[in-house]
Amino acid sequence: MDTVVVMRSTATNTDVGGVVERISELGLTPNISRGEFRTLIGAAGGKSPAIIQQLEQLQGVDRVIAVTQPYKLASREFHEADTILDIKGIRVGGPHVNIIAGPCAIEGREMLFEIGGLVKEAGASILRGGAFKPRSSPYSYQGMGKEGLELLKEAGEKLEMPTITEVTDPRDVGIVAEYADIFQIGARNMQNFNLLLEVGKSHKPVFIKRGLAASITEWLMSAEYVLSQGNHRVILCERGMRTFNEETRFTLDVSAVPVVQERSHLPVFVDPSHAAGKRDLVPALALAAIGAGAAGLIIEVHSCPDKAMCDGPQAVLPARFAKLMDQVKRVAEIVDHRVTRWGDAPAQRRRVENGGWMS
Ligand code: PEP
Ligand code: MN
Repeated sequence: MDTVVVMRSTATNTDVGGVVERISELGLTPNISRGEFRTLIGAAGGKSPAIIQQLEQLQGVDRVIAVTQPYKLASREFHEADTILDIKGIRVGGPHVNIIAGPCAIEGREMLFEIGGLVKEAGASILRGGAFKPRSSPYSYQGMGKEGLELLKEAGEKLEMPTITEVTDPRDVGIVAEYADIFQIGARNMQNFNLLLEVGKSHKPVFIKRGLAASITEWLMSAEYVLSQGNHRVILCERGMRTFNEETRFTLDVSAVPVVQERSHLPVFVDPSHAAGKRDLVPALALAAIGAGAAGLIIEVHSCPDKAMCDGPQAVLPARFAKLMDQVKRVAEIVDHRVTRWGDAPAQRRRVENGGWMS
């Protein structure tokens, strides 16, 4: 069993130093995670109730929590309530359902603005678009790079939507942070630990796709890499895994949603597009995910999928996406969740206050 010391938001550097020193004196290994709002200090090897009691009494300590799981800060044991992030006034997690939509890859201004406008009108709250595309083949379209990031930022500002884009290289974290609101860590990079450490040093939300063959524990350990660096704004996304099934591109693990929700306080999204690989299957998987309690979906939409540079066969047409949004809203209500439409954001922004220790 290990323990995590949660410092008060008012704790000083001297208080943190005092706790670190005491942990070392006890023969344990301290690990500091300096968040935007609070500092957390892990004490690996801390076993006994006596140790917990001693740490609890130190200056600046709010509480001390024992965690049995290998992932600490990601676990429900550490943080019982659902984490709800505030992303530009949009609440993500808990009972809030958010739909991220847009093209797989940013291919040009006109296309991005057209698709962005349509998905916003249909009710999506966050705009997606890849500028750096990690492709299975080195000869496939690799994305527009920085120019794509510029277009995404412009579209997000014009449409008043937060944006998400994939970052594939630790060296690009700075530039992606300049242009996008959420870092997407792709399935193939889920265990790129240097990349996770780098986005962990930022305070922008990190959306971690589950690896093609990753266990739930491995996936949560990837979240732990980010959390351990002090970035407490993490979202998880199930996107299908590799099985013997040839009818779909991957096999969606719907059960990952309730399993992760039991083990972790972090919001869990589902990507039905990459799991299905075929547009006709996307709505069924999307509704199954919302019915299972997912905090949201990330869906690829294209107005001209036969001309798409990437993932055209799984891109849903805007009209079908609009119908799906209506269905999502109804299924979400059944599980006592509520879909955030882009239009809710300004009203939410007024209501949002930074209540939680994480945001
Ligand atoms: C994507 O979202 O376009 C993507 C490449 O997803 P994944 O990393 O899940 O394959
Ligand atoms: Mn894609």
